Amino acid sequence: MIDVYHAKDIETMDAEALKALQLLRFKKAVARALETPFYKTRLSAVGISGPEDLKTLEDIKRIPFTTKDDLREAYPYGLLSCPLSDVVRMHASSGTTGIPTVIYQTAADLDRWTDLTTRSLVAVGCHKGDVFQNMMTYGLFTGGLGLHYGAEHLGMLVIPSSSGNTRRQFQLMKDFGTTVVHATPSYMLHLHSCMEEHGYKPSDFALKKALVGAEPHSEEIRQKIQELFGIDVYNSYGLSEMNGPSVAFECDRKAGMHLWEDSYYMEIVDEHTLQEVPEGETGELVLSILIRTATPILRYRTRDLTAIIPGRCACGRTSRRICRIKGRTDDMLIINGVNVFPSQIEEVIMKMPEIGTNYRIVVRKDGTLDKLIVQTEVGPEIFSDDARDMNALKNRIIENLRASITINPVVELHEPGVLPVQEGKAIRVVDEREKKR
Ligand code: AMP
Ligand code: ZN
Repeated sequence: MIDVYHAKDIETMDAEALKALQLLRFKKAVARALETPFYKTRLSAVGISGPEDLKTLEDIKRIPFTTKDDLREAYPYGLLSCPLSDVVRMHASSGTTGIPTVIYQTAADLDRWTDLTTRSLVAVGCHKGDVFQNMMTYGLFTGGLGLHYGAEHLGMLVIPSSSGNTRRQFQLMKDFGTTVVHATPSYMLHLHSCMEEHGYKPSDFALKKALVGAEPHSEEIRQKIQELFGIDVYNSYGLSEMNGPSVAFECDRKAGMHLWEDSYYMEIVDEHTLQEVPEGETGELVLSILIRTATPILRYRTRDLTAIIPGRCACGRTSRRICRIKGRTDDMLIINGVNVFPSQIEEVIMKMPEIGTNYRIVVRKDGTLDKLIVQTEVGPEIFSDDARDMNALKNRIIENLRASITINPVVELHEPGVLPVQEGKAIRVVDEREKKR
C-alpha cells in the first residue's frame, strides 16, 4: 500500500515536535480568546491574562471548561475575537433551548479548515478525477459546505446535491459517474432500500467510497453499507463548534479516526470528575481549536464518549486515533443527522395552551431513517371527536415544531391520562433505535 499524504511534514510529525507546535498554537489561541468578552472574564478569573501564563501544555488544565450553554450565553457576539467586518462566513447549530451556537470564520480560517478537509479526503484515497457527490445538507449545518471546499481544493468534481430527493441523487450518481459520496449512514441505508424501486442496481454506479458521519453508527452498520453497495465506507467525525467535518477522520486502514492534533488539542476526561483518563479508557472528549481566529473555543466539552487508541497507525500518520463515538453524556438526540434537544420540543409544545401536561418523545427507525414521534395529551375540553379540529391542532403543533427543530415530526394526540406516568423521574424520551445500533 503506497501512502499518500496531503501535508506529510505535519501529518507524520514526531510526538515532541507536535507538542511544541500545539503549545505555540495554544498560546496564540489564548491571546485571541482574551480578545472576546466571554473568555476575558473566564480567563482573568483563573489568573490568565496573557499567553505567557501558559508555560507548558500542563497549564492548559487551569483553563475552565466551555459548554454548549456557555456558547448560548455568549450569543450572538460574545465569542467573536475580530472585527465583524473580517468575518466572511457563519455557521450555527442547535442549542439546548433553541438559541443556536454561532461560529464565525475569517477567510484565512476557512482556508485552514479547507486544508484539513483536503487532508482528510487524501487520507481515504480520494484524488483529482474523483466525482464527489455531497449528500450532506448545505446551509447553517456544517456538513455540506465543510467538505465541499476540501473536495474542490483537491480537484475532485463536486456535485453539491445536498440531502434528500433520492430520485435525483440516483440520477446524478448514474449520469455523472459519482465515485465518492458523503452522507449520513442512515441516508446511505435509505438510498439502498429504495434503489430497486427507482429502477437501479449497485452495478449501475461507479461508486467506490462513502464518507459517513454526523450521527452515531456501529461497525456493523459500516459493514452493512460496504456489503450492500460493494464499496469502502469511512467514518468522519466533527462538530460545528470545532468547525464541522474533519476534526477526526479515518484513513484507509479503517482502524480508528485520526484526530488532527496539530489543529485540535484533545483531552479525554471522566465525565463526573472531569479528570483526564488514561489512554485507552473511555471518557468525554474535550477539544480546543487551534486554527481558528474569529471564534476561539478552549476546552470544549463535546459530550461525546470515546477513547484514544494506543499505538501508531500503520499509515504513518502520527496524530493519535480515537474510537468510533460510543454515545453522548447529555440528552441530545441526533435524528437523521440533525441535533435535537428534548427541551426544544418541550418548549414549543408547552407554549400551546391546548396541550396537557404529559408528553412523550419517541424516536424509532422507519425503514432505515429515523422517525421522531411527539405524543401529547390534550386537555379534556380540547379532545374532541371532530377529526377536523384535531387535525388542525396536530398540524399547528407540527408547524411550530418544524420551525424550531427543522425536522418534520409525527404528532399523536391523546386523551388525558393515556400516556404512561412514572413514579419517579419522568421518562420523556424513548429512543427505540438504541438497541439496534
Ligand atoms: P453538529 O454540531 O450538528 O455538527 O453535531 C455534532 C455532533 O454530531 C457531535 O458532537 C456528535 O455527537 C455527532 N457526530 C458527528 N459525527 C459523528 C460520527 N462520525 N459518529 C458519531 N457521532 C457523530
Ligand atoms: Zn492511519
